[in-house]
Amino acid sequence: MATAKRLEHFGETVFATWSRLATEHNAINLGQGFPDFDAPDFVKEAAIKAIRDGENQYSRSAGHPLLVEAIAETFELPTNAMDEVTVTCGSTETIAAVILGLVNPGDEVIVIEPFYDSYLACLSMAGAVPKIVTLHAPEFTLIEEELREAFSDKTKMIIVNSPHNPTGRVFNKSELELIAELATKHNAIVLSDEVYNKLVLTGTHIPIATLPGMKERTITLRSLGKVFSVTGWKIGWSIAPQKFTEAIRCAHQFMTFCPATPLQVAAATALRSPESYFTEYTAQYTERRDLIVDGLRSVGFNVHSPEGTYFVLADHTPFGFSDDVSFCHHLVTSCGVVGIPPTAFYKQSTDGQGLVRFAFCKGVETLKKAVERLQGLC
Ligand code: GLN
Repeated sequence: MATAKRLEHFGETVFATWSRLATEHNAINLGQGFPDFDAPDFVKEAAIKAIRDGENQYSRSAGHPLLVEAIAETFELPTNAMDEVTVTCGSTETIAAVILGLVNPGDEVIVIEPFYDSYLACLSMAGAVPKIVTLHAPEFTLIEEELREAFSDKTKMIIVNSPHNPTGRVFNKSELELIAELATKHNAIVLSDEVYNKLVLTGTHIPIATLPGMKERTITLRSLGKVFSVTGWKIGWSIAPQKFTEAIRCAHQFMTFCPATPLQVAAATALRSPESYFTEYTAQYTERRDLIVDGLRSVGFNVHSPEGTYFVLADHTPFGFSDDVSFCHHLVTSCGVVGIPPTAFYKQSTDGQGLVRFAFCKGVETLKKAVERLQGLC
C-alpha cells in the first residue's frame, strides 16, 4: 500500500463511494449533500459578470477584499475584515487549514460524533489525538459528564458543529454554555463549524462566538455552498481572532493560496442578498424536511425530525438488516435510492449501524419519487 501511514486508515470518502453507486444504479441520490436544483440566477450572473470584468487572476491569499468585507459586514459580531477573515476553497479546506495551522502532534482535540468525516482525517494528518464524545441516539443527546471527562490539560481544541451534520441537531443555549465553560476552563480553542447556519428549521442558532468571553477563543467557519446552492464553487471562510487567523493563513497559503477569484466576487454579491432571500430559502427547506420526515415515517423508519441542516438520520432497524452498509446496499439495488451509511461518521459508538442518512436538498418532486420508491421496503 502506497498511502502514507497518516492516511492509510481512511480510504475513499463515503460521499464519493455512494455518489458513484448512485450513478451506476441510476438511483435517486439522497447521499452526498448537494442540491439537484440550480443556483439562483442573480448569483450565477454575478459570477459571469466578474469573469467578464476581468476578475481572473489570483486574489489576495486571505480573500478578495470585496468578499472579506461582505463577510465581516454580515457576521453577528464586529469583525475586522482584513485581519480576522480568511477565505478558503470550501469549508473542507478551512477545517484542514485550522487544524494544520494550529494543532501540534500529540495535542488532544475533542470531536463530537457522529462527525463530518474530514475532521478525523485532518487530525490524523496533524498527528493529533482525537477524543470522541457521542451524541446518543435516538435524540442525539450530549451527556454533560461525558463531555467533562473528555477534557484534559492536553486539550488544544474542541470541534463543535451546529446545526449538526448528520443528526440535524441545533445545540441549545445550555449545551453551548457548557462547551464554553469547559473550553474556557481548559484554555481550549473552539472550532465552530456553522456551515448550516442558515438552515435552522426549528429553534434558533446561537453562534458560540457570541457567548460572553468566547469571541477570543472561537474560530467560526461558514460557507457559501449550502446557502446559495453552489456546493461546487467551494467557497468557505473562517472568522477568528488575529492570532489564530495568522496560523490559519499560514497553512492556507501553502495548500491552495486562494479560491477562484470570480467566484469570490460573486459570493460578495450573494451574501448581501435581502433578508427575503433567506426567509424564502428556510421556508422551502422546511417543506422539504417535513415531506421527507413524514414520508420516511409512513414507510416505517423511526425518525428524529432534524432541527436544522438538510440531513435526516433515520433508524432503519424495523427492516431487520444487520448494519447500515448492508441496508444501504439493499436500498440502492432494490429501491433505487442512495442513502449514506453513517458508521463512517462514528469511531466509538455502534449507534451508526442502525441508522441511515438521507439528504433532502432535492426538489420536492425528487423527494416524493424517493419516498415512493422506499415503499418497496415495506
Ligand atoms: N458536506 C457534504 C455531506 O455531508 C459532503 C461534502 C463533500 O463530499 N466534500 O454530504
